[in-house]
Amino acid sequence: MKHKGAEDLPESVLRGVGGSPGVVFATVYRVHAEAAPCVDRVVNPGEINLEIERFKTAVDETRVQIDLIQEKVRHAIGQADATIFDVHKLVLDDSAFYEETIRKIERDRMSAEGALQAVTQRYGEVLSTMEDEYLRERAADIKDVARRVLSNLAGEKTHVLDGLREKSIVVAADLSPSETASLQRDQVLGFVTDVGSCTSHTAIMARALGIPAVVGLGDVTRRVETGDKILMDGTEGVVILNPSAATLKKYDTLARQRDSIQSGLAGLRNQPAITRDGHRVVLSANIELVEEVSEVRKAGAEGVGLFRSEYLYIASRNLPTEEEQLVAYQGVASLLAPDPVIIRTVDLGGDKFASSLNLPSEINPFLGFRAIRFCLAQPAIFKTQLRAILRASAHGKVRIMYPMISNVGEVIRANLILEECKGELRLEAIPFDEHIEVGVMIEIPSAAITADIISKHVSFFSMGTNDLVQYTLAVDRVNDRVAHLYEPTHPAVLRLMKMTIDAGHARGIWVGVCGQMAGDPLMTHLLMGLGIDELSMAPAALPAVKEMIRSVTLEQATLLAEVALREETAAGILSHCRELMARVAPEILELVK
Ligand code: PEP
Ligand code: MG
Repeated sequence: MKHKGAEDLPESVLRGVGGSPGVVFATVYRVHAEAAPCVDRVVNPGEINLEIERFKTAVDETRVQIDLIQEKVRHAIGQADATIFDVHKLVLDDSAFYEETIRKIERDRMSAEGALQAVTQRYGEVLSTMEDEYLRERAADIKDVARRVLSNLAGEKTHVLDGLREKSIVVAADLSPSETASLQRDQVLGFVTDVGSCTSHTAIMARALGIPAVVGLGDVTRRVETGDKILMDGTEGVVILNPSAATLKKYDTLARQRDSIQSGLAGLRNQPAITRDGHRVVLSANIELVEEVSEVRKAGAEGVGLFRSEYLYIASRNLPTEEEQLVAYQGVASLLAPDPVIIRTVDLGGDKFASSLNLPSEINPFLGFRAIRFCLAQPAIFKTQLRAILRASAHGKVRIMYPMISNVGEVIRANLILEECKGELRLEAIPFDEHIEVGVMIEIPSAAITADIISKHVSFFSMGTNDLVQYTLAVDRVNDRVAHLYEPTHPAVLRLMKMTIDAGHARGIWVGVCGQMAGDPLMTHLLMGLGIDELSMAPAALPAVKEMIRSVTLEQATLLAEVALREETAAGILSHCRELMARVAPEILELVK
């Protein structure tokens, strides 16, 4: 799409998935297209000098880029954070890095990319086994610097952080949650990506930041360039190239309509989430960043039902210390008190990684070394977090939740480590809540099926439907090619949810939902009818869900769930939900269409 003379070009509509609501018409800033494949090949003797020159040029470019970023960080954050880039420059000038790569090109006739990767890997492996923590961390620096040099070798001259100068829609093949979190918020009007789904962590971050997003568009990066103007709608999940005047007007009207429905709903803030026949559902908020806590109260939530603590880990270059975590958790707990905050222990892996951990990549990261599996294998890291959470519990109502539980043994082991931490704190005379409640996420089918067994060891269940859907249906939640199979209302998912709710209630514990389904108004009546006690969602989603609760009787919702449990297809169940919604809350239907 060319921006010059765009008015002459036909309009074209790209359909993806709505990642975060909002309509924007703005200029594109396109981030590196798909990473070029690494050229690991044997070079002819005549090409060796050329290859060395390519490497040297890429290193020089990298040095200039690091200087620029360092300057920017110094300006924005301060000198202390900017000094990490001195280390990066030292790596660039280090003879092991620089000369050895050149030697490998000469001696082994390797391409610049191949030689650089071999050198990086060798030093990374040696450093990551070092006793000394400082040296171990240098492995991450080497990797980071090598990544920059590699992308310069591939001709990728732009990085999100380096080039965004004016308010734009960021278009990228993919954005990692940490890239999303580190963007300059005031410059980003929207996110548009080739891959992803509404439950990918990039979309979750976009919602947390209140930035509209359309994900899973397939090849949008090939169809637009920096400087083009596009229209995006994060609710419908569409991007429109060369929008006509009529289309712009239509979306402008739509955005105004939605705004006016939303501002009408804002009046519900102090109203209870109660059905027409007096049944109450607890509505809580999901937060990813500590700063979001101010949104929780504004949205009228009764506390935080899911604090995704992993952003403390991926946003920093080093593992967060007990003190650093304490500051974050205590801050949230005391601001919310007497309302509760459920702190989920760190859920790294899947599509979220902390560079400080330097974990090896896996073929199936969502089925791999993720969340509680990582924590149980790294008790020292786990204990640092548990101690910080326990210490924060002296300053408000704090609950602990373990993610990715697949069997009861993991709960028992995690609880034993928690007891160990409590014992240590008692000995150190550090106060904490002796009655702190512990719950688990039910997000793996094996946990849902054995919820009756697991319920003996916990005080609550919160269903992570984003993962429960992906693991039940064997559909990668971030893979847009199988997104059509990602069906939250699949009868199998519904049955697992029902089993979990019944098992929790039989033991007298409450059961909530904290996945994306909890914030989707189309799902509210169904979840209530299944017997859910709590729904936890992005703060912005809360008013519409509250209105949904207030629009029905529990009897109507229960009837819907009974009908749904007898239905045979996901689409059939969805249409029953839509039907009831159209009858009792037609204006909310406008928001989700
Ligand atoms: C979920 O899986 O539904 C959930 C809430 O956790 P996350 O999205 O962080 O995996
Ligand atoms: Mg999950």
